[in-house]
Amino acid sequence: MTSGHCLCGAVRFCLAVEPRFFYRCHCSLCRRQTGVGFNLATLVKAADFCWEAGQGVIGSWQKPSGYRNDFCSQCGSTVPNVLRQSPYFWVPLGLLDAPLNSECIGDFCTDDAMPWDELRSANSCRTAVDSLEFLVHQLQVDK
Ligand SMILES: [Zn+2]
Ligand SMILES: [Zn+2]
Repeated sequence: MTSGHCLCGAVRFCLAVEPRFFYRCHCSLCRRQTGVGFNLATLVKAADFCWEAGQGVIGSWQKPSGYRNDFCSQCGSTVPNVLRQSPYFWVPLGLLDAPLNSECIGDFCTDDAMPWDELRSANSCRTAVDSLEFLVHQLQVDK
């Protein structure tokens, strides 16, 4: 069991699994969502995710393209959300409480990275993730 929470602690959740892999996205949306160079996140099966507190204070903003940012309306932390219409939750890794031994499976949208953002993994990709299926497979979410 892995737990996580937002800055103020109002939003709390737990995962039935310890994510072994994560990815980074350097696109301009993720940059603004985080305020730094890239997003660092993983996916878990919806069945492996549970809210413990604070669902009522979660705000949501969505771009017409589908890009979505769910956040704690008290402290502004980005919080997990259901990935579009999929059976997976998107989880920002920084919210997790335990020091996980997770490995980066790749950096995406590196063409959009700022010159000051130089962090890259062995599997860097200049464009976005090909498909959700690819990402789920790479992150070994279903294993
Ligand atoms: Zn909060
Ligand atoms: Zn992105």
